[in-house]
Amino acid sequence: MAVDTVFGKIVSGEIPVEILAETARVIAFPDINPQAPVHILVIPKTTAYENVVELAAAEPETLAEMVAVAKRLADERANGEFRLIFNNGATAGQTVFHVHAHVLAGDLEERSLGDA
Ligand code: AMP
Repeated sequence: MAVDTVFGKIVSGEIPVEILAETARVIAFPDINPQAPVHILVIPKTTAYENVVELAAAEPETLAEMVAVAKRLADERANGEFRLIFNNGATAGQTVFHVHAHVLAGDLEERSLGDA
């Protein structure tokens, strides 16, 4: 159960953000510390899930909605191609424990994960 995260406060409106996309279950807003020309976070409105594994098991349709919103944003703001990242756990770099997808697009560094 994800409680009391900064993203919960964004969903409730306590912390204002620029909403770039919204559906029944999902919102998207710019990452405050962008790592690419387009760097958008897509999150479910529910605070019930800390990570993508929990979300996929419980609400696969919400996960599919997040992917569809990511694609729409990449179509609107780049060439339709994008990198979709879910950090899953603190040692994997997750700092906010409300499931979120990083949508990276634009002129991305030409480096694949295998080159790391
Ligand atoms: P992660 O490290 O995968 O948990 O990603 C958390 C992301 O949330 C980071 O990229 C932060 O820059 C971003 N972030 C934290 N607070 C805010 C905020 N108030 N508005 C937008 N993005 C935020």
